[in-house]
Amino acid sequence: MVLKYKESLQNRWILIIRFKLASPLHVGRGQEGIYNRIVFSNVEGGLHPIVPASSIKGVFRDLSTKIAKNLDFRKPLTNKIVNNHVIDSHFPVEKADDDTNRVRVYRETYFQGYDGIDDDEFKLALARELSSGLNTSLDSFLELPVEEIIELYLSMKCPICRLYGAPGLSSKTIFLDAVVKGSYQVGLYTGTAIERKTGIVKAKHLYNVEYVYPKGETWVDIHIYIDNMDEDEELLIKSLIGLIKATGLRLGGLRSRGYGLLKLDIENSYAVKTIFDGGPEENITKLLRGGTRVSLESLLG
Ligand SMILES: [Zn+2]
Repeated sequence: MVLKYKESLQNRWILIIRFKLASPLHVGRGQEGIYNRIVFSNVEGGLHPIVPASSIKGVFRDLSTKIAKNLDFRKPLTNKIVNNHVIDSHFPVEKADDDTNRVRVYRETYFQGYDGIDDDEFKLALARELSSGLNTSLDSFLELPVEEIIELYLSMKCPICRLYGAPGLSSKTIFLDAVVKGSYQVGLYTGTAIERKTGIVKAKHLYNVEYVYPKGETWVDIHIYIDNMDEDEELLIKSLIGLIKATGLRLGGLRSRGYGLLKLDIENSYAVKTIFDGGPEENITKLLRGGTRVSLESLLG
């Protein structure tokens, strides 16, 4: 089960970020034996290569995790949570070897305000906060082990986890599959890999990777929706775009061979902030109409 935030949709940022292909690009749907194909999809009457949303989200998430640790969020607690965010956990990094009493370590690190109450009362207090913010009852939280409750609570306060999701917790950000457009060709990279089984080198085998490469202007528009973005999340997203503007974005396979470099085309990128007036949430087109379009450059400030 994936828990969702109870808060109703108030506003949605729509980011349309254009990237130009600056190198060959391979993005598939994961390893498929020795032949890694690109995904094509029928878009506007023609077949075009697709960059799956999950690949884009993965790269955005990794970069966000790296830069978040250098940012200054509003609350000291947020900074502490972000500094300890490692993939699926917020257990204090410097205490990683201290497995004697994990709950005590969590409490000493994050929950000084709860001093003087025993572990049962502590669990109840956190479960109450979770059920007020997430769409599940107090009782179902109380059935969970306390460590899971603590992690859910910390994820709910972590801008990285809020934006990109955490185990059992939905994300506030939606990425769409992106379409490669413009003028490009498809090529095939052939490499050799050494197959290893239980440490014994067996044999070299060939593998093929399909890629798309720019011929003239080739671009990808990445569409991202972010719901009810708060100040901390905004800081993180803006810093991320600033980083991508400076360094480009690396996406997909064969990156060590220089593949997958995308350069931000800031002039053709923009954002729309839509305010939701309380009608049916499915009515995205109405949302889109209501928004004001601003350049991505102006958003960076
Ligand atoms: Zn986190």
